[in-house]
Amino acid sequence: MASSSYCFKEPPAPAMARIPDAFIDDLLARSDIVELIGARVPLKKQGREYSARCPFHDERSPSFTVSPTKQFYHCFGCGAHGTAISFLMNYDRLEFLDAVEELAKRAGMEVPRDTQQRNANPDGQDLYAALDASAKFFQKQLAGSAKAQAYLDGRGVDATTRERFAIGYAPDGFNALRDALGSDERRLKLLERGGMMSRNDTGRVYDKFRDRVMFPIHDRRGRTIAFGGRVLEKDDGPKYLNSPETELFHKGRELYGLWQVRQAHNKIPRLIVVEGYMDVVALFQHGVDTAVATLGTATTPDHAELLFRNAPDVYFCFDGDRAGRGAAWKAVESVLPRMKDGRQAFFLFLPEGEDPDSLVRQEGQEGFHARLQQATPLSQFFFDSLSADVNLSTLEGKGRLAERAKPYLLQIPDGAFGDLMKQRLTELTGVGARTSSPQTHVRAQRARSAGAAPAAGKRSIVRSVIALLLQHPPLGVELQPPYRFATLRQPGVPLLVELLQLVDQRPDINTGALLAHFEGRDEQAALQKVALLNLPGDEVQWLREFMDGINQLESQTVQQRIDDLNARIRDAGSMSALSASEKAELRELQSPVRKDP
Ligand SMILES: [Zn+2]
Repeated sequence: MASSSYCFKEPPAPAMARIPDAFIDDLLARSDIVELIGARVPLKKQGREYSARCPFHDERSPSFTVSPTKQFYHCFGCGAHGTAISFLMNYDRLEFLDAVEELAKRAGMEVPRDTQQRNANPDGQDLYAALDASAKFFQKQLAGSAKAQAYLDGRGVDATTRERFAIGYAPDGFNALRDALGSDERRLKLLERGGMMSRNDTGRVYDKFRDRVMFPIHDRRGRTIAFGGRVLEKDDGPKYLNSPETELFHKGRELYGLWQVRQAHNKIPRLIVVEGYMDVVALFQHGVDTAVATLGTATTPDHAELLFRNAPDVYFCFDGDRAGRGAAWKAVESVLPRMKDGRQAFFLFLPEGEDPDSLVRQEGQEGFHARLQQATPLSQFFFDSLSADVNLSTLEGKGRLAERAKPYLLQIPDGAFGDLMKQRLTELTGVGARTSSPQTHVRAQRARSAGAAPAAGKRSIVRSVIALLLQHPPLGVELQPPYRFATLRQPGVPLLVELLQLVDQRPDINTGALLAHFEGRDEQAALQKVALLNLPGDEVQWLREFMDGINQLESQTVQQRIDDLNARIRDAGSMSALSASEKAELRELQSPVRKDP
């Protein structure tokens, strides 16, 4: 096949890969997040902040707040949060650069010129183009393969559905795609980066997908970012083969079919989560057009968030066997912390030997919907699973169920669902799940050991200083690196240092932008929580408290050094454990009229 029929763009002139942070900080400083969000969502003023019903999840009472001083938004229900830029990205569904340009236009600012070409990463554009060309290549191959067509015919997949899902066929042999699209070094590299090629021990590069029906996986804008391939015959290797993780594809965050579902609905009433591509396609073919598939992984928390952002009701389909129940429990664990009011999750266990594909072909749309009606609600599956091997007629059994259930129930967001679950536990065992149980303590410890800022409970100095800094980032400008307390061995110190360095480098940064810097990291949730506090007082008072805190951290650092040196003397049983300069240092540190180090 002539490769010239697939056009990869030549690389454009080098462009700056990203917009300078200083520009973003300035842009956010000049944008009014309240006005921006208020134009799209009705906001109500409440004290210093604004509240609304969250635009990112279904809810009856408002749990979405916008802070004009900190310039960020946060939803206590679904956890959505971010700056004016992320709001535009999520609400108007813009790409980062488009959101920046939109804001810049409103603020009358010019985006630094080099970055103005769409999506400053030309390399990324080429990667999308390579995957798109691959999808087209596979589609063309399907048209020429009687075997692959017979397979889809046998499955009852008609031409419209094939087209809608851009289903294709990867030919047998090792070089079909490589020969068609990998004709030079650069193109071959792109195909490799896109996960389309494998490499053997001798370094030979060959087609990853061979003799498989190909299902392109689309991102939220409908671009091809990866593929799933399904064998035609049963014993031809693994049934499903996915693209590896690439810079465009993270399987834990994508759902196969979501793009098509969104195309078919303005408002998606429910999402049905199944296991395979063929299940999604077959359900669509038979009029059940709200199915998506996880991509060979258990349901992740990212999946759960994505599902509920798109639909209030989520139905999980699993095999009725042991493995299926295990997978269902994984889904429970991902879903519980997201069970805000208005959301519902159900579990549908399929009869032995059946999958959604076979069921919908036998029973049609009606039959499948009837099964959904009978699905097990999350609450029931939860208590059934936890008490499966427990005798609830004994005190011991009740105690065991209560112990097992409590840590899970504590993860449910405040609201009616959480209350009802706790009530149900009380009915079953006579024991309530109070938040004041020792679990709270365990959770706080877990947050601490995960390297997050110290959680609520003991108010450490580090935490107070971080809270002040998030309240009013310009406080950080009062300090210059290096920070003398950086060596202090206390939870949260490295985080504080990182925050101070950020403020030092970007003096105009506001709270929203500071938080955005930690997006995707473990510390993010803890920081977000601290940033939501509204500290009493004013800037003058904050500055005093901030400097007080810093001074205390510095004297603790001195004390830590004294203790360290003394410990070495004690361990060695002699002053000779220290070098001459260390001895001098210790004398100096311990002297009552010590100058500040
Ligand atoms: Zn929300």
